[in-house]
Amino acid sequence: MSIEGLQETIGLRALPAPDNASRHYWQSAAEGRLVVQRCTTCGVFQFYPRALCTTCAGETEWVDASGRGTLHTYTIIRQNRSPAFAALSPYAVGIVELDEGVRMMSNIVDCDVEQLHIGMALEVLLLKAADDVGLPFWRPVTD
Ligand SMILES: [Zn+2]
Repeated sequence: MSIEGLQETIGLRALPAPDNASRHYWQSAAEGRLVVQRCTTCGVFQFYPRALCTTCAGETEWVDASGRGTLHTYTIIRQNRSPAFAALSPYAVGIVELDEGVRMMSNIVDCDVEQLHIGMALEVLLLKAADDVGLPFWRPVTD
């Protein structure tokens, strides 16, 4: 999946509807910052955004994520008739384990999907999908 093809079709996707728990996350991504929640009591990171810590029910704060992670697992989609995805095939959907320890599902982009392998180093790529919504994608680290 090329970045150009992705950018052309991103507006065709069903976008998230920010709520009180997630609004800061989506807005930050639209501004080019990947953030995750960290509990101010027990220190655990969590993703996806929720109102309270799921470990101890404490308050959470937003912290900038490193934007680095590893590919935990993935699958390759070879056919999808949805207008948002048809031109992108084949493309990869993966679970990325961020350096902060949380996992998120996303597309693995800007690569030959046949070269993907579990454990490979990834970096985030944030693309603006709307004024208040940015979407995180991941791509192999090349340096
Ligand atoms: Zn906690």
